[in-house]
Amino acid sequence: MSPELAGQGALVTGAGRGIGAAIARELARAGCDVALVDLGCFEAAEVVAGEIRASGRRALALRADVTSLPAAEASVAATIREFGRLDILVCNAGITRDAVIWKMSEANWDEVLAVNLRGCFTYCRAAAGVLRAQGRGRIVTIASINGLRGKAGQVNYAASKAGVIALTKTLARELGQSGITVNCVAPGLVRTELVAGLSQETIERAVSESALGRIAEPEDVANVVAFLCSERARHVTGAVIQVDGGQYL
Ligand code: NAD
Repeated sequence: MSPELAGQGALVTGAGRGIGAAIARELARAGCDVALVDLGCFEAAEVVAGEIRASGRRALALRADVTSLPAAEASVAATIREFGRLDILVCNAGITRDAVIWKMSEANWDEVLAVNLRGCFTYCRAAAGVLRAQGRGRIVTIASINGLRGKAGQVNYAASKAGVIALTKTLARELGQSGITVNCVAPGLVRTELVAGLSQETIERAVSESALGRIAEPEDVANVVAFLCSERARHVTGAVIQVDGGQYL
């Protein structure tokens, strides 16, 4: 039996490490050729691309800043040049710059909004024309449960992720008639380098908040993204799917 996403072309942002790297690997395992976009972890993205090539799929590492629309357009063009198609876009790149509101700098507010929210806009904007023209496609954004519930110390991050959720629902409405589904995955705490600096106490709090008594591995998120990209999820759009082990109920 051929893999579920055989021959499809996927582009994943922030794919050098963490959740994005797990998504790139999982989409490749499901049969996709994968373009991996990263900036600070570009060399790591090249390593993941090498692993994917060794597994028999095509892979392309692209150095790009998700905050730039011209860079997003160049990424989409390079993906189509290399694979001949683009079927799946995963907007995953994200950062944190935590502080309470009375200590939050304008620079940290702007940077988080630019990467997390504008970074989804640029890639969706760049891919929309191609996906609409072919009358099919999948877009998955990565938000956070903190975009749903708010989180003390993360006003910039939570606001950016709430924005990602609204962007997702709006694009689901705008693109649905063109055969494109747009969904959001909202993880709870996931074991990646993004949260490596958190105290043991913070991690233990997340574990105790969760119904399953654990935090997620990147693969837990990647599996749900792959499902949303599959034909089995054809009637799911505009959804926000929490992958948080019941951390936010
Ligand atoms: P990570 O820091 O391990 O990986 C993020 C990747 O994005 C890195 O490779 C980084 O280089 C890349 N990136 C950052 N800025 C970029 C830019 N301007 N242009 C291109 N690439 C850029 O983080 P992660 O934990 O894997 O997080 C991935 C996504 O999941 C983020 O959107 C994050 O907000 C979200 N998320 C993470 C958690 C968690 O607990 N780890 C929880 C909820 C949501």
